[in-house]
Amino acid sequence: MTISKTDPSQVANSDELAWQQEGLYFNTFGAALRRRFGGRVQRVSIDAGFTCPNVDGAVAKGGCNFCDNRSFSPSRRVRLKRVTEQLESGIQTVRERYRGVEGFLAYFQPATNTYAPVDQLEEVYRLALAEHDWAKQGEVVGLAVGTRPDCVPESVLELLESLAKEHYVSLEYGMQTMHQPGLDWMNRAHTHDHLINAIDRSRERGFECCVHIILGIPGETHAMMMETADEVARLGFDAVKLHNLYAVEGTPLGDDVKSGKISMMERDTYVTTAVDFLERMPPTTIVERVSGDAPASYLIEPKWCLAKSALRLAIENEFKRRGTRQGSNYRVPDLLPSLRPRPEDNTPESIRNQIDVRGRLPVLKIEGR
Ligand code: SF4
Repeated sequence: MTISKTDPSQVANSDELAWQQEGLYFNTFGAALRRRFGGRVQRVSIDAGFTCPNVDGAVAKGGCNFCDNRSFSPSRRVRLKRVTEQLESGIQTVRERYRGVEGFLAYFQPATNTYAPVDQLEEVYRLALAEHDWAKQGEVVGLAVGTRPDCVPESVLELLESLAKEHYVSLEYGMQTMHQPGLDWMNRAHTHDHLINAIDRSRERGFECCVHIILGIPGETHAMMMETADEVARLGFDAVKLHNLYAVEGTPLGDDVKSGKISMMERDTYVTTAVDFLERMPPTTIVERVSGDAPASYLIEPKWCLAKSALRLAIENEFKRRGTRQGSNYRVPDLLPSLRPRPEDNTPESIRNQIDVRGRLPVLKIEGR
């Protein structure tokens, strides 16, 4: 089956109530993709060999306390051939696991996937986007690109804008929280102002903007998490990924959890907090995830997040019990996101300098060069 891309303006209109008509409690990603592409679409993760300015010293070292970035060495290289192999084998794995999958999103997931000279970004993104015969056979219908809010110079946004004219493109920003103490605790090494600037420069360029949020950051009260929810709604993201804070091996957070210094949110608290959060989202926001997890062998705490389906069901049951759904508690912002002026690029000089210098970054080794 050939998947055709639907006109995004029609998607926005039909999405507004389509998920409610389907009897869902929130605007699920799977259903949104089905409406958009007319069939089941799954993500395939790709590690394209990027590093992160929060690891290599451009803005900080050490990385976020929850991130296992031991492999993000500034000297690492991933050959383009390896990228294509990852995509092909990922597609194969998904085909074996699920029936009726008709399209794939190439998901550039680990590290900061906009942290490289823009011509090299274009090469690797286009490779995944069916510019090559092997990929056409793989029915890759779009891209998802994970990044940091301080790592999107205009040149990168313009590239994504041009790709989005022909393909589905989603840019995923790690926001995690709007509160600076939480950002500092995680060693994010960016401010909430970077995030506001990034979304205001990204919006309405034809690609989707998704935001990652963590619930259960130590020191954050329920009221603070709800402030973050209202801020996500105010900023006008197209999609949200909700994660419970979880700790994995080989991270500072993992060490703190093992030593008893940090404890994770309880499952019941997470369920009610996630529902409170989603009630504050606009009904049009696509909910890409409602929890986070890691492979069992690698996860320290909380173990309850491993039972993903049961957790999702608990969230749906909480909506049912309350008689609410996503958007029930949404407050329309005083100034709609579309009316806010586009700000100047505030990408830090340290990142911009390195992005534009070929060879400085641990960018892709292009075969034959
Ligand atoms: S910004 Fe992202 S890639 Fe970089 S250290 Fe933090 S979580 Fe890891």
